[in-house]
Amino acid sequence: MKEINLSCPVPHAPGTTVTLAHGSGGRLMHQLIGKIFLSAFTDPALHEAHDGARLEPCPDKLAFTTDSFVVRPLFFPGGDIGSLAVHGTCNDLAMCGAQPMYLSCGFIIEEGFSLEALAVVAQSMARAAAQVGARIVTGDTKVVERGKGDGLYLNTAGIGRILAPNPVSPERVRSGHVVILSGDVGAHGAAILSVREGLKFDTALQSDAAHLWPAVAALLESNADIACLRDLTRGGLATAVNEIAQKSGCGISIDEEKIPVRPEVAGACEMFGLDPLYMACEGRLIAFVPPDHVERTLKALRSAGGEPAVIGSVCESPASEVRLKTLIGVERVLDMLSGEQLPRIC
Ligand code: MG
Repeated sequence: MKEINLSCPVPHAPGTTVTLAHGSGGRLMHQLIGKIFLSAFTDPALHEAHDGARLEPCPDKLAFTTDSFVVRPLFFPGGDIGSLAVHGTCNDLAMCGAQPMYLSCGFIIEEGFSLEALAVVAQSMARAAAQVGARIVTGDTKVVERGKGDGLYLNTAGIGRILAPNPVSPERVRSGHVVILSGDVGAHGAAILSVREGLKFDTALQSDAAHLWPAVAALLESNADIACLRDLTRGGLATAVNEIAQKSGCGISIDEEKIPVRPEVAGACEMFGLDPLYMACEGRLIAFVPPDHVERTLKALRSAGGEPAVIGSVCESPASEVRLKTLIGVERVLDMLSGEQLPRIC
């Protein structure tokens, strides 16, 4: 007997959760885009509802980056997946010496996800983009079946105009450069951990997720000769320093005593046997500058609200290796993170 298709061609009225029909390209998808995305993202280029955003030409060199976000939980103290995506993408542009200008956002939503939560995430992205003057100009929505996603994944790509007069790149790192850290480490990782494990602290433990462009703009304004910048994300400070050591071919020596770690972050790490030097941050950077530019670098980072510290220096040997002078005065190799300390941190 021929199989009869009983599926109803008329879409269900919108409820409180995302349905597969919201990703179908039909009426419900247009309602979703109108009600949630276009009310949060107000850029004229997006409202043109074209296949792509048409952008003005820019006289500067451009930086272009992309990043996907799978953080769990989606909402955490100090942010959510939406603000995190915007901060993360804009920070990668800032690390190239570029002012964030344009962003795209791709939403991969699991069937059954709350429409209200989706609206909160979209509003949060819009707010974070506005903070740094970046425009969300294009986007995409896909819905996957229940059980085939984990609530919500985001992808954001960004374009920025490079305002740094010289290349900001690991290849410019030289022996004698000084390593400056913009603030305390590990708060993002510890905040995520605290929600997952239900930890309570005397003081509110918040993610450090924030824009780094204001700090970079202040550095450029100070005329500091910034050889290289790197934001500390997955793998934390230790991984970032190792990446620069490997790419530059130089040795880097770091003094553990100089690295600020908040007591509640240190406490959470101790409880779970984690090392704060590998804990993720989402609003901290390291800068590599010549010794005679240290003072102006520190001053610029302070003016942008940071609490910077000189934490080490670059040397010729051992090549591509990071050495840590530990709190007890012993020197050891500080390796890149192997395996995963905390999965789904960003
Ligand atoms: Mg980065």
